[in-house]
Amino acid sequence: MVRNKTDITSEVKLLWGGFLIDLNVQDTLALFGKKARITSYKRDQETVHEAWDESRMIVTCNEADFIRYILEHSKRDSGKTCQDCWGLLVVPSDEIVRNRLIKNVKKGIRMDGEILPWSLAAFANLCISLHSDGTVGVRKFRRCEHCKRENPIESEWYDDLPEIGTRKITNPNN
Ligand SMILES: [Zn+2]
Repeated sequence: MVRNKTDITSEVKLLWGGFLIDLNVQDTLALFGKKARITSYKRDQETVHEAWDESRMIVTCNEADFIRYILEHSKRDSGKTCQDCWGLLVVPSDEIVRNRLIKNVKKGIRMDGEILPWSLAAFANLCISLHSDGTVGVRKFRRCEHCKRENPIESEWYDDLPEIGTRKITNPNN
């Protein structure tokens, strides 16, 4: 079945649980509106599981650990149940800088001149980094075989994104 972009967008909006805010950036909660809440867990692995369970995108300034735990979580892919997470939003550790940057991406991020809504970015399991200089880094986590087959993301911009975890993880300070 071929579905058009509008169908997928509205479907995904219903599936996405919103943002899950890591404790180290919990002051950002108000900036993300109603579809956000703070994690109930202190341990990052548990936050990753919680985000997966509730189809939420994690917000953190702790990039390296969360990438590691998300990759670990999705490795449990058995081909039957989907262990994919719903993306990661990495924000700067400086509170003033990050608050300013988050306000610029209320609805989503700009891709090819169009706004990619957060729900779709989460569904595509993207890793989005808001850099202090105002640029936005976009990478993708690998999706499970089931999702690739049943819910392919057929967009050129998606194909072109660098994939996390296929080779060595690049230095997060780059
Ligand atoms: Zn999946």
